[in-house]
Amino acid sequence: MTATGEAKLRDEIAGFGSFLTGQSLAHGSTGNISVRLDDGWLITPTNSRLGRLDPARIARLDQDGRLVAGDPPSKEAFLHRCVYEMRPSARAIVHLHSTHSVAVSCLAGIDADDVLPPLTAYYVMRVGSLPLIPYFPPGDERLAAAVRQVAARHAAVLLANHGPVVAGGSLDAAVGAVEELEATAKLFLLLQGRALRPLTAAEVAELETRFPRS
Ligand SMILES: [Zn+2]
Repeated sequence: MTATGEAKLRDEIAGFGSFLTGQSLAHGSTGNISVRLDDGWLITPTNSRLGRLDPARIARLDQDGRLVAGDPPSKEAFLHRCVYEMRPSARAIVHLHSTHSVAVSCLAGIDADDVLPPLTAYYVMRVGSLPLIPYFPPGDERLAAAVRQVAARHAAVLLANHGPVVAGGSLDAAVGAVEELEATAKLFLLLQGRALRPLTAAEVAELETRFPRS
């Protein structure tokens, strides 16, 4: 990775941080964004607002998660690290405390193997399936172990009473998937108490054949 290449990625993280905040998907200092480099990764700093990131201060970590440049990383960096370890194809990760996804993660009686039904084709194409990770307090390493268990099979997971973690083949893809997840969580909440007609297993299978997710 050249210095120019890294600078471009720093700008991209700050740009998407601002975009996600503008979409009301990140409030306060919640949420974090990372991008994989050849020899480590970049991640938003601890206590930073996604809408006001200084690209030069974004943390750069080595392969083992040690800080090599920028401000100290998000306290949730360990979540990103275990997803990168389990998903070699992941180039970027977005974690948010976005309202509708968090609301769904607080519902009793949801399917922990796959939280949201396949309501639309775009949800199937961009997210697919969404396991629920049990609740652990912030920073608890047991959360990493639980994420590690499912991350190889799922690009997106939902942390109970907390929020989504979504990996993608690019930052643009990860952001697109988390937006789709949030929109589907909103639909799911709007439809509570009504009879649902999600896509059938055959309709989902056809989409997965025609539009395989990376
Ligand atoms: Zn969080």
